[in-house]
Amino acid sequence: MAGEFYVTRFVLAQPKEIQFQAGQYVIFLIGPPKGRHTLSIASAPAQRGSIDILQSVAPRGGGSTWLLALKSGDTVQFLGPLGKFTLQKESKRPKVFVATGCGLAPLRSMILDYLETSGTARVTLWWGLRHETDIFWQEELDGLRKKYPNFQYTMTLSKPVDAWMGVRGRVTQHVVGETTELTHSEFYLCGSRQMIIDMKGLLTDNGVPSEQIFTETFF
Ligand SMILES: Cc1cc2nc3c(=O)[nH]c(=O)nc-3n(C[C@H](O)[C@H](O)[C@H](O)COP(=O)(O)OP(=O)(O)OC[C@H]3O[C@@H](n4cnc5c(N)ncnc54)[C@H](O)[C@@H]3O)c2cc1C
Repeated sequence: MAGEFYVTRFVLAQPKEIQFQAGQYVIFLIGPPKGRHTLSIASAPAQRGSIDILQSVAPRGGGSTWLLALKSGDTVQFLGPLGKFTLQKESKRPKVFVATGCGLAPLRSMILDYLETSGTARVTLWWGLRHETDIFWQEELDGLRKKYPNFQYTMTLSKPVDAWMGVRGRVTQHVVGETTELTHSEFYLCGSRQMIIDMKGLLTDNGVPSEQIFTETFF
């Protein structure tokens, strides 16, 4: 779809519908050599008859190679939904989502779910990618920003070309300094282990209670 990122929709055959909480994941049974492949559901829970998956194929391990080889019409099996990285929907705190790369997957599900079910708290997304060629879902994010006044997002590139006019650097360089009501907000972090360690450290050093920080480490 863009750069190393692929979005795939799996239409459910048996059972025909799934119920899950935004942020949860599934485990695909992919056979040898890897056996199982864990991927977050990127679509909103209201989409019952199918799930959307966002895969970074850069690792080219067993899982991403399996996904790349799938053809339209193939039948696959998965276990789920699983996981406790879910949105605190009832909380009135401003919600700050921080993702790197495909870490956007469960956050997209949460953001769509929250906004589409009339969530009124302020919702801010920080999304870190490397290059311009990695950018996708920008139209959708722009559409959400237009439709929901409580939603803002910033995409930041760590390795842009010189001509890039947008925000530069890693998400960790921006979030603390540019979040109003920092210590009152709740944070949802998803992506690489290093980003989550760095981001969590910055947040707690700046007074955010750890109970307000929710994380999912992908790799
Ligand atoms: C709860 C959970 C949810 C996940 N959801 C997603 C998801 O929605 N989309 C997704 O793409 N992945 C997701 N992952 C990671 C996923 O399970 C795989 O690790 C990843 O997709 C690569 O699979 P692979 O089999 O090709 O390579 P692996 O054999 O899993 O990994 C090969 C190597 O690449 C590294 N690696 C894995 N992912 C990346 C990456 N994105 N960028 C750079 N290096 C990487 C690994 O650390 C390892 O060293 C999730 C993981 C967990 C635990």
